[in-house]
Amino acid sequence: MDNLVNILYIVSFALFIYGLMGLTGPKTAVRGNWIAAVGMGIAVIATLIAVRDTSNWILIIAGLVVGVALGVPPAKFTKMTAVPQLVAAFNGVGGGTVALIAWSEFLNTDGFSQIHEEPTVHIVVGSLFAAIIGSVSFWGSLIAFGKLQEILPGRPIGVGKLQQPLNLLLLAGSIAAAVVIGVGAAGDGVPGWWMVLLLVLAAVLGLMVVLPIGGADMPVVISLLNALTGLSAAAAGLALNNTAMIVAGMIVGASGSILTNLMAKAMNRSIPAIVAGGFGGGGTAPGAGSGEQKQAKATSAADAAIQMAYANQVIVVPGYGMAVAQAQHAVKEMANLLEAKGVEVKYAIHPVAGRMPGHMNVLLAEAEVSYDALKEMDDINGEFGRTDVALVIGANDVTNPAAREDSSSPIYGMPVLNVDQAHSVIVLKRSMNSGFAGIDNPLFYADHTSMLFGDAKKSVGAVTEELKAL
Ligand code: NDP
Repeated sequence: MDNLVNILYIVSFALFIYGLMGLTGPKTAVRGNWIAAVGMGIAVIATLIAVRDTSNWILIIAGLVVGVALGVPPAKFTKMTAVPQLVAAFNGVGGGTVALIAWSEFLNTDGFSQIHEEPTVHIVVGSLFAAIIGSVSFWGSLIAFGKLQEILPGRPIGVGKLQQPLNLLLLAGSIAAAVVIGVGAAGDGVPGWWMVLLLVLAAVLGLMVVLPIGGADMPVVISLLNALTGLSAAAAGLALNNTAMIVAGMIVGASGSILTNLMAKAMNRSIPAIVAGGFGGGGTAPGAGSGEQKQAKATSAADAAIQMAYANQVIVVPGYGMAVAQAQHAVKEMANLLEAKGVEVKYAIHPVAGRMPGHMNVLLAEAEVSYDALKEMDDINGEFGRTDVALVIGANDVTNPAAREDSSSPIYGMPVLNVDQAHSVIVLKRSMNSGFAGIDNPLFYADHTSMLFGDAKKSVGAVTEELKAL
């Protein structure tokens, strides 16, 4: 039986890794997801075989039913634009589950003092690590969910200079509680409230780490929380002596860590600085700023069409608003018309445009925009200076020149698309509202920028109609 379980686990790991490979491209992503899901199904079956104690089966099946009932409807019916917060919620649930597993191990073994399996130290240390990190991840993900769902403001919410000492104190408190529990495990175990204290301190730490992080830095935090959930699951796997949990947790932990690193590099941020709560968000109200009255110029679809029809090169800069408006197909139709008129059309993709990594790539691939036309930030930034028109479609923070020029800006230092260097800039958005980071964008008030107000899909459609008439 043990051999069968191990073979099934190995098959499931192979499927996880093969499935992950599929997730590297939009064309293979759905299949990759299915493959990984089959792998998870096999791991669950293997675990059921390993459990043997049939008295637990009712509980396990009840858990599966509740999980399916809670997981399937949101996964099926959530709108594409709300997927990032769904991912944050699912990630949090993973961390929370791990913390609960650790708590139940604590309760079942009289504070880890009645563990019969060897080596005991793995179980105790694994459970305590899982309890702290799982709790941080659950509560932190809840805040990330709230910010992405716009239930909570995107700007930082914190206690200023006291933030870092407070976070350090909470971390030290959680570790101290873990040490007390660990030492107690060698004797008769400690009272149950020690574990509750540990979980509560870690919960407050999770809230205090994510609340002060501003909108623009959320991508790094979300991938960091993802990595933490993976690590806590691996630790719980160590505690439960469950190979599937260890491997799956390590895969999530490793991929989450790689993504965190890539995101931090793309944002020119250091991970410790973000976690310490030093960056991002806040800033000026829309239209405020240096105090002088700034005026943005409105334009019409006809004007935008004329400018682009006579251009040599147009760079489309998509952002979250294109996803909200689902304008990608309309954009592709407009680009086809421009290309038919001899205009070269390229797409500038900022690594954190939208609300999830690769968001713009996925949408544009869905509209069958050629992969060659999608240019990464470093490759396209040098081209704006010789581009006639930059067409910004629902992008805001990723085009904000304050990140380059204004050292007092909360996003100062974050690499942005050099849209302001184009000869002419047309911005498609509905109002003068700010983007996710909640800060003003001087690009909108520049002399060579004009605003085409309205829903991006409708505006692009109107421009396309004008282009047809030219
Ligand atoms: P922003 O959030 O900065 O701006 C999007 C703009 O789209 C808004 O200013 C809004 O203006 C406009 N908009 C919204 N709906 C529509 C619509 N229907 N039609 C036209 N315009 C619309 O988006 P960016 O893509 O520029 O930047 C992404 C931001 O999100 C960054 O701050 C990034 O750090 C953050 N983030 C990114 C994540 C990722 O992994 N990619 C994850 C979490 C956060 P208006 O309301 O006036 O229309």
